[in-house]
Parts: sequence; C-alpha cells; structure tokens
Amino acid sequence: MIESTMHTQWLDTETSSGLGKQLKIERETHKLEKRLCRQVGQAIIDYNMIEEGDRVMVCMSGGKDSYGMLDILMKLKSRAPIDFTLVAVNLDQKQPGFPDHILPDYLGKLGIEFHIETQDTYSIVKKNIPEGKTMCSLCSRLRRGILYRVARELNCNKLALGHHRDDMLQTFFLNMFFGGKLKGMPPKLTSDNGEFIVIRPLAYVVEKDLIRWAEHRKFPIIPCTLCGSQENLQRKQIGNMLREWDKKYPGRLETLMTSLQNVVPSHLMDARLHDFKNLRTTGEPDALGDIAFDEESFPAPGTLPGVQVVSL
Ligand code: SF4
Repeated sequence: MIESTMHTQWLDTETSSGLGKQLKIERETHKLEKRLCRQVGQAIIDYNMIEEGDRVMVCMSGGKDSYGMLDILMKLKSRAPIDFTLVAVNLDQKQPGFPDHILPDYLGKLGIEFHIETQDTYSIVKKNIPEGKTMCSLCSRLRRGILYRVARELNCNKLALGHHRDDMLQTFFLNMFFGGKLKGMPPKLTSDNGEFIVIRPLAYVVEKDLIRWAEHRKFPIIPCTLCGSQENLQRKQIGNMLREWDKKYPGRLETLMTSLQNVVPSHLMDARLHDFKNLRTTGEPDALGDIAFDEESFPAPGTLPGVQVVSL
C-alpha cells in the first residue's frame, strides 16, 4: 500500500512537472509568436513597407527564414487595416536532389496564391563556372533576372525577402571589413532595375527566434547545400564574430542595430553626405556640434532607448 502511494506520488510529481513544462513551452511559444508579429508589424510601419492594394511577391527558398516570413505575413494580413495580396513564389533551379514537391504541397495547403518557376540555372552555372570557383555571383544574377520577370508576369509591385536582423548586421560588417564601405542591407529599397520595391519584413527579427519558430511550426525545410557551392567564408567569419559578441556581451547586437537607425553624417568622414568644405560657425549652440576636448560618454549596456535585450 505504502509502496503504491509512493508510486502514485512519483507519478503525480512527474505528471505535474511534465504538465508544468508543457505549459511553460506553450507560454514561451505564445510570447515568441507575439514578438515575431510585433517586430514584423513594427518594421512594416516604420518603413511603410506594405500599402493598400500591394501585390507582394514573397520569395520562398524553402529555408526557415522564408517559411517564417510567409507565416507571419499571413497572420498580419488577416488582421491588417489595409488590403493587400501575398503571392508566394519559389524558383526551382534544378539543383540535383531538390525535392520539388515540398513547396507546392505546403503552399497548396495554405490556400494562398503561389507560383513555382522552374528554370535550370544550375546547368548554366555549372557549364560556365570552372570547377572549384564560386558559383554564387552568376547564379544569383540569373535568379534575380528570372524573379523580376516572374514578378512582372504576376503583376507584383513588391518583392519580400526573408533576410533577418543578423543577415543585416553581417552585411554591414562585410561591407565595412571587406568592401571599405559603411553600407548595410536596407529594409526597403527600389530594385536595381528600378521596377520594384524590395522589402525585408524580418529586419527586426533575430535569427534565433526564426529557428525556434521553424521548429515549433515544423516547416518542411529544404536544405540549402544542394548546389554544392562553397560556403562564403567571409560571411561565416563575420557570423561567428557576431555570435561570439552576442554570447559575451548581451545587448551588443541590439545596440548595433539601433546604431544603423541613428546615423550622424557630420561625425563621419563622407564629404558627399556632409559639406565639410563650406562649414561656417553659426554662433548658436548645437547639440550635435563637436565637444572638442571632452570624451564621449555612453549609457550602460542595454539601456539605450529602443534597445531591447531579448534573453532566450
Ligand atoms: S549558394 Fe548555390 S543556390 Fe545559392 S547563390 Fe550560391 S550557387 Fe546559387
């Protein structure tokens, strides 16, 4: 009898702790969903990414980011105060082993407008790029041309790409370290042919959240290594640096992101952005003027307005 009571207690304890764990996971997932919707919604508002009547071509690669983007955009569309259309598009580049049924099956079940464009760019790239050389520049040029044509045919005026905050920071440092430019990845810009508006609704979303969301939603992810191209070592190196900073100095990446929205051209050295040559005194105090002999002071980490440290 005693033995059986103890057994039940064990079971009860296990059940309640299991239930507690389950509830905690559900709470966390709910918070994650709210955060993703809030951040995507905020980016859309801040940069006026989507407007009434837009036909937005959502570029789907089959990776976690594009699945996450479509998922959140669909949620936001259902409650948005404006009317717009999402058209999911995937380009099947005929990479060996590409499972071409996965995206049509998934998108078909969602009941949204979608299009799969099949173009064997893989063979063209293989034929034109010598073995061992990086294929990405020709591949992406071909892809861009095809996707612009598809957008035109589908009557879309905007292209949504699934780049997230960490992609944007990586691009910023890649440009600075290897390109000698203070240039990032814009949340919204016209396409290089001047025909479309390119938007990045995940601009405020951290990659870790997209990984967790993809796990929770069980997206049928298609591996991105099918083309067999070498990894971009420079991007990998910058990615590792940022991850290391994130671990060692929580809040640093958030501060970096805030700095991209807080540019002070007079304190950089680009004479095209600030007219250093014709600078004259005004006699009036200027909060943005040079503090000359004083050292710049900084707020404590994580206390900058607009900087939110998200612990996972
Ligand atoms: S990684 Fe592969 S698919 Fe992607 S751009 Fe490079 S060659 Fe093309």
